[in-house]
Amino acid sequence: MAVNGAKYYVDSCQSNPSYRLYRFFWRLVDWIYPPRCAGCGCLGNRWCRDCQSKIREIYPPYCQKCGIPTKGGKICLNCNSSEPKYDAIRAYAFYEEPLRSALHRLKYHRDIALADLFALNLLNLFSRVQWDVDFITAVPLGVARLKERGYNQSALLAYPLSLATHIPYRSQALKRIRETESQVKLNIRERKENVSNAFYGNRDLVTGKNILIVDDITTTGATLNACASALKNAGANHVYGLTLARTYNNRNI
Ligand SMILES: [Zn+2]
Ligand SMILES: [Zn+2]
Repeated sequence: MAVNGAKYYVDSCQSNPSYRLYRFFWRLVDWIYPPRCAGCGCLGNRWCRDCQSKIREIYPPYCQKCGIPTKGGKICLNCNSSEPKYDAIRAYAFYEEPLRSALHRLKYHRDIALADLFALNLLNLFSRVQWDVDFITAVPLGVARLKERGYNQSALLAYPLSLATHIPYRSQALKRIRETESQVKLNIRERKENVSNAFYGNRDLVTGKNILIVDDITTTGATLNACASALKNAGANHVYGLTLARTYNNRNI
């Protein structure tokens, strides 16, 4: 899709009545409870212009598989040594301040209106990647973690994307069948082991389908890879991943 085509797509998505209603609800919440910026704490905006200006979006050239920046867009070392199960993943921006603080607030401090705001960035990214998908799903939480947190931040990003694009949202396509420990302190190999066989794809929903998985952050891509593996084992055709942020390490180039 050309740049104009992508812009037209985003504009038409934003005018979808169900999406407008969803956005209106969150604007109403902000009107009743004036928010503070999730990046710098200034009063009046959930996310201020100054913080937005500090975000470094990710544009090509990048690895055609995992989306990490590479010279000339060649496949990165990680994807070369072990081909991912997903077809491609892309992230909106680098995982660094102030976006890091905002995602932390979304994930751990119940600042769930941020998901509506950041879903717009995923919509813009989706308009550029031109993936043909049958439905959208989110990386699921385990039952215990969902109970403890009360919401799945990735689902809160995926749902408005579905409303805007009119692509169905299927929360039951993937299940987490094993609780996994936090990936934060694990290295690449440990992350792979930690999430391997943690997910299960619902064959009735996924067979023959092209699926988009949404997650908040990707680091090594291990979680999305495990999800893609489960979906493909259950008969999925193509599996793509979109995340809001990704960590970046020059060693991957
Ligand atoms: Zn700010
Ligand atoms: Zn790669």
